[in-house]
Amino acid sequence: MKINRVLILGIDALEYDLVEEWDLKNLKQEEYGKTILPISKEDGYLYSEPSTLIIWPSFITGFPPKKHGVDTIKKYPLNSIYKLYLNIFSSSGEDHLTPIASQKTFKRRVMDKISHIISQMKLSRPLIKEDIKTSSIFDLPNSIHLHIPVYDEDAFPPYKKKLVDAIENKTYRPIFEMQCMEEFKQRTKEVFEWLERKNEWNLFMQYFFVLDGIQHVFYNNPKKIAKFYILFDEFVGKVREKIDDDTLLLIVSDHGQHKGIHTTHGFYSSNKPLGLKNPKLIDFRWKIEELLGM
Ligand SMILES: [Zn+2]
Repeated sequence: MKINRVLILGIDALEYDLVEEWDLKNLKQEEYGKTILPISKEDGYLYSEPSTLIIWPSFITGFPPKKHGVDTIKKYPLNSIYKLYLNIFSSSGEDHLTPIASQKTFKRRVMDKISHIISQMKLSRPLIKEDIKTSSIFDLPNSIHLHIPVYDEDAFPPYKKKLVDAIENKTYRPIFEMQCMEEFKQRTKEVFEWLERKNEWNLFMQYFFVLDGIQHVFYNNPKKIAKFYILFDEFVGKVREKIDDDTLLLIVSDHGQHKGIHTTHGFYSSNKPLGLKNPKLIDFRWKIEELLGM
């Protein structure tokens, strides 16, 4: 198997269980499965839910949080108090999912408000590339990365701020959905444009926020969620038709989602047999570099 190019689609919150349940053949590819996320205490991870801002840096660096150094405390200083709270009170079971979802929304709103005040006082700031203390996969020559959380400034579309409003207030939901669709169209278009320019890169990664947003807002509307999963499945089908045989197409997620709550496993699929079984999310960087002969 000679691999000259690697195309990565980083799809936030793509849930393994739903890909299976809806039998999304393009997303599954030749090899697929769950991944183990770097969220144990040994990894230096102390939150209850996988956090997008910490997990993606783990994927691109191939290191656990304690090594790459990205923690949400710089952006949300209150998280240190929240961490303490989590360590004292362990999280409750599955049967209280809906109340937890609304508690989380409340918590998120309060945290966002306080964080906003704290950032106006210049006591906090958004996470930036320089917060990543290690090398990353994008140090490879000829690599293109678009909208990657923390690494690229524009990772999250502006409508992400409206997430809590859309969860709480039905009237905002159609607009939110429309904006998700816009993001999907824009970022899939970018993928096709870069596929036309494939001689300019050996590694390409595109990131999508949309599924995380849709699943938080429409957590009790499986039809709506399925609509977006199917869109992604069809998109991957088209990408597969356009790539050459020497291109590895890797799809990864930072966690899944169930009833609006992040699940603690990730998803991966590959168009080439990689021979992995329950891989760790932090293993992929090294696998990709090995395949590209680095
Ligand atoms: Zn989320």
